[in-house]
Amino acid sequence: MARDNPVVNNQNQTPIFQNYSLSNFHKIKQLQKFDKDFLFEIEVVGNVLPFKINNYVLDNLIDWDKAPEDPIFALTFPQKGMLEKEDFDTIANALKGKKSKKEINLLANQIRARLNPQPAGQIELNSPTFQGTKLLGLQRKYRETALFFPRQGQTCHAYCTFCFRWPQFAGLDELKFASKKFDDEIRFIEQNKNLTDILITGGDPMTMNYKVFSSYIEKLLKADIRHIDIIRIGSKSLAYWPYKFTEKKESGKFLKLFEKIVNSGRQLAFMAHFSHYRELQTEVVKNAISRIRSTGAIIRTQSPVIKRINDDPKIWIKMLKEQARLGCIPYYMFIARNTGAYNYFNVPLVRAWEIFRDTYKSVSGTARTMRGPVMSCLYGKIQMLGVAETEKNNVLALRFLQAREPDWVQQPFFAEYKPDAMWFTELKPAFGKEKFFFQ
Ligand code: SF4
Repeated sequence: MARDNPVVNNQNQTPIFQNYSLSNFHKIKQLQKFDKDFLFEIEVVGNVLPFKINNYVLDNLIDWDKAPEDPIFALTFPQKGMLEKEDFDTIANALKGKKSKKEINLLANQIRARLNPQPAGQIELNSPTFQGTKLLGLQRKYRETALFFPRQGQTCHAYCTFCFRWPQFAGLDELKFASKKFDDEIRFIEQNKNLTDILITGGDPMTMNYKVFSSYIEKLLKADIRHIDIIRIGSKSLAYWPYKFTEKKESGKFLKLFEKIVNSGRQLAFMAHFSHYRELQTEVVKNAISRIRSTGAIIRTQSPVIKRINDDPKIWIKMLKEQARLGCIPYYMFIARNTGAYNYFNVPLVRAWEIFRDTYKSVSGTARTMRGPVMSCLYGKIQMLGVAETEKNNVLALRFLQAREPDWVQQPFFAEYKPDAMWFTELKPAFGKEKFFFQ
């Protein structure tokens, strides 16, 4: 596997971002090893779920000798099993029948609508109302934290196949969160004094160029909202395009802006998404991590546990040890949300807990900052604490790490043992109760 090729890892040169999507994926030279049928499968699924990849991921992260089983290939390339057979056949037949783009998109939209495009009540429950209008660029699920979705940041340097925000990229505009300005949102934040954290998220806000990105940050800093202690940036750029923080053109300006946030007396938390230890192995990502940390920002890391990509404690152990060595703080192991190709990627809750436990017991205290496995569901962030034995049978022990109602947090509760359950909605309360305490 190539390393740091073809783009340079010298911060004095400007690497060239080369982007592939459904329209030009046939030009990816590494795909030439696959037959036509396999490429057609990519095309079929890519017509329903978003696909985008770049030259850094292709040349540095995927082990092409092992593809298609390679985990980073599975993380980025559409695969046949991601769609139900019937849906796959519908799109395959439409493509073979040379249907128009519009017709194919109509069929794709029908399939997308069945894939639970907005899980956990994101629009109805999380978008706050300000002066009679819903703020679609802001979400507030928890008392202390607001998520801000800048319009120009609703894309990523590459797309993850398991992505829970896939409707942001699939052309479903009516389901998209995005803010055009940052004025009403700032006024909402100002008025809600319980808020302490702002998470700037997407997509990936680090896809924005400096001018646009800095305009949002400067507005926030200028507002100087005293109750905002922490500015978070949720981003996969360290894994998919670490040159953002090393290349000559703009990286220095971004890092200075990070310093400015820190110097404003707030913490800057860079919430980095890493799904596999391989994403941490190139020289350029190590350099990028070091440069971000030199601004005074802290880097917290998170990922869901996903079948075919990282459903093995050995991968997590190696990943967490490397993160701790590089000065990052492991934060969450999620369970992938029940949306999109979730049936293809999800790991049963009990198995996810076993992976978490085997990982946790094998790393030192500096990496045991990771919490999980966690489902971010309608009610809040529910952590799977484990399988507990009672006199009669086994039960699943759970608790909230975050909740719509702060009082729910940290109260243990129990569900019937169900080893194949993959999401909270499949669980029933234990001990013959009709409801969980928060329902
Ligand atoms: S980086 Fe995040 S938002 Fe972007 S495709 Fe991956 S999971 Fe989705």
